[in-house]
Amino acid sequence: MTVRVCPLCGKDAEVTVRRDMLPVFQNVTYATAEEARRAPLGQFALATCTGCGFSYNGLFREELVEYDENYDNHVSSSAFADYYASLAAMLAERYPLGGRVVYDVGCGKGEFLKILCDLVPQTRGVGIDPSCRPSVAGNMRLIQSRFDGSSFGENAGLVLCRHVLEHVAEPLGFLQALADAMPDTPLFVEVPDLDWILEHKSFWDFCYEHCNYFTVPTLRLALEKAGFEVEAQSRSFGGQYQWAICRPAAHFLVTDADAGAALESVRRYSGAESDQVATLRDRAEQVGGVAVWGMATKGVMLSLMLPEGLVRGGIDMNCAKQGRYAALSAVQIHSPEWLKQGEISTVLLMNPNYLDEITQQVRGLGVSATVVTA
Ligand SMILES: [Zn+2]
Repeated sequence: MTVRVCPLCGKDAEVTVRRDMLPVFQNVTYATAEEARRAPLGQFALATCTGCGFSYNGLFREELVEYDENYDNHVSSSAFADYYASLAAMLAERYPLGGRVVYDVGCGKGEFLKILCDLVPQTRGVGIDPSCRPSVAGNMRLIQSRFDGSSFGENAGLVLCRHVLEHVAEPLGFLQALADAMPDTPLFVEVPDLDWILEHKSFWDFCYEHCNYFTVPTLRLALEKAGFEVEAQSRSFGGQYQWAICRPAAHFLVTDADAGAALESVRRYSGAESDQVATLRDRAEQVGGVAVWGMATKGVMLSLMLPEGLVRGGIDMNCAKQGRYAALSAVQIHSPEWLKQGEISTVLLMNPNYLDEITQQVRGLGVSATVVTA
């Protein structure tokens, strides 16, 4: 199979994890089951660079993915809200943002920027995203656009780029454009962490929208190659995410990455993946089918990988998704109240970070279904 060369260093890659067909968007839902089955498709081959260890979808075609207002990645959860609040508090404590501008490149609908702008009323927030609705409210402005490389201006206090880099076919060029547009300003970058996916064998975390899969060393490598100096790196959100804080560097310095170790861990994961899928299938069969709670990336991907009919329905707190159908699997998405029908004995929870919260919510409905993590 011919795959793209490494977007970070141009060397050849080894393919491990394969998916014949994935929906191009897992965060777009459909009005009917028929439309959901006709969702646009793309191919996936996890390629890991033999030179630098960076992992990416070697068959990704950027022209298939066009983000617009139909893109909805909103997550309704108190655990998620707590995470946003703690992240905003960390940034507000670390950087003097009063009287300065915070730019959020790829802000989605601007939810995180709003929390930061509310926390620091003297700051001004500017969010840029092709899927947002343009608006001005209080100390925050949203611009419906892709990042076009224009300069952030001398008054920039902080630039955010959360959950963007994993969607960009040429992350290096994108980061270089950011570096060129920045004065001496900190950049906060957050992405999912590949090592968490591999360690937890969460096969539902590979999707078409995510064309890049960073580890802590390869995120650092990408930032350094683009001309940033990394000041801090950390895993976050229970280890599922990782972030880095960096600044445009005075001198290029690139830390070597260990391609051998990276290849070793994707090979080990890939060798065990089909057993992992079979184990979950057996569990679902034993209880006569399950409801999947969390129909964002994880739930939509899992519904695809289990035999048809085993996922009897999806549940999501995002009202805009309720009543609609998940891409390709055509599993219908419901509100939690749907469980009251009593046909579901087992709720499969896609994100372990929400276990306490969801278990309480199911009990609150008077439903006796068991909530287990996938
Ligand atoms: Zn490479």
